[in-house]
Amino acid sequence: MTITPNPGIAAMAPYTLPDLSVPPGRRAVLLAQNESALPPSPAALAAAQSALADSRFYADSEWRNLRAAIAEVHGIDPGHLLCGAGSMELIQMLGLGYLGPGGRALSPAFGYLYFRTVVQLAGAALDLAPETDLTVNVDALLAGLRPETRVVFVANPGNPTGTRIARAELLRLRDGLPDRVLLIIDEAYGEFADAAGESMFDFPARGNTVVLRTFSKVYGLAGLRVGWGVFPPAVAAELRKIQNPGSVSAVSLAAAAAAMRDQPYMRRVRDETAARRDRFAAAMRQLGFTVPHSHTNFVLIRFASAKAATGAADALRAGGIVLRPMGGYELPDCLRATIGSEDDMAHVRDAIAEWVDRERTA
Ligand SMILES: *Cc1c(COP(=O)(O)O)cnc(C)c1O
Repeated sequence: MTITPNPGIAAMAPYTLPDLSVPPGRRAVLLAQNESALPPSPAALAAAQSALADSRFYADSEWRNLRAAIAEVHGIDPGHLLCGAGSMELIQMLGLGYLGPGGRALSPAFGYLYFRTVVQLAGAALDLAPETDLTVNVDALLAGLRPETRVVFVANPGNPTGTRIARAELLRLRDGLPDRVLLIIDEAYGEFADAAGESMFDFPARGNTVVLRTFSKVYGLAGLRVGWGVFPPAVAAELRKIQNPGSVSAVSLAAAAAAMRDQPYMRRVRDETAARRDRFAAAMRQLGFTVPHSHTNFVLIRFASAKAATGAADALRAGGIVLRPMGGYELPDCLRATIGSEDDMAHVRDAIAEWVDRERTA
C-alpha cells in the first residue's frame, strides 16, 4: 500500500543544498553557502545566552523587541515589519498567500533558487526573464509579464550574480507593473549596498511591494534563522494567517535584536568582508577569470567552459575547498565563492592559481 502525496508535491524535486563533503583527513574550507566570514556580534551572543535561561516560555509572537530594534535603526514603522524563521519563511508565506494554481510568477533568469521551490509549492508556474551581463534587466522583466503574472521576485543585490540595480531601475520596474502584481524585493545582501544611500524601505507604502532582509548574512546568524521585511499592512495581515506564530525562537529573537542594535559591529564586518572580497576578485581577474563586481559577501567566478568549472571544483574539493557549482542556476561555467577568513581566501586563491597552471601545461 503506497501513501500518495498531493500531486504537486510528488512532482517537485527536493531543494538542493550543496554537497559539503571533502576527502577524509582534509581540513574543510566550506565556502558554498554565503555564511558570514566573521562571528556574530558579542552582544548578540550574550543576549542569546541570557534568553536561553528563559526557554520554558514561548517566544513573543509579536517580536516586539526585535521590531523595535529594526525600527530604531532603519526608521521604519514597527507596524509594517514582519519577522520570520529566515527570509526563506517569509518568501514561502508570500508564495502561499499570493500565488496559487493557475498563477504565474516572474523572476530574472539567475534569480534565487529557493524562489523556484516556493512557486512549485504554491502550485504556480515560473517565467524567467533574461539578464544582461549577469545583471537584472528591467525591460526584459516588463516584457516577460503575462496576464496571469501575480508576483515578480527580484533579489537585489542578486544571488548568485552579486550584481545590483539602482533604485531608479526598481522604481521603473514598479511603475511598469500593473498595480495588482506583488513585487518582492529580496535584500538578503542589502547591508552591503546600503552605502549607496538607495533605501527601498519606502516602497511598501505603495501597497504592492515588499522588501525582505535577513540576519543570515552580514549579521552572521544564519544558524538562528531570523529574517524580516517591510510589508504593506494589508499584506502583513494576510501573511500572519499563514505563519506559524512561534516560528522564530526566543533565543533567535534576542540575538537578532542585539545584533541589530550593534550597528558599529555590523559595519566592521561588512567593510572587512567587502575588502577581502575585492582583493579576492582582483586576484581572480588577474588569473584571467571574469568576475562581475559583487555587492555581497561572495563572488561569482566565470570559467572558460562548464568542463573547466567542474574540473576546478573537483580539484578544489580534493584539497578540502568547497565552492558552489552553479549548474542549478544554469550557469554551469561558474563557481560561486563565499568570502571567508583571510587565510581561507589566500588558500583558495593559491589553489585556483595552481589549477590554472596545471591546465596551462596539461
Ligand atoms: C541567503 C539568502 C536568503 C536568506 O535566507 P534566510 O532564510 O534568511 O537564511 C534569502 N535570499 C537570498 C537571495 C539569499 O541569498
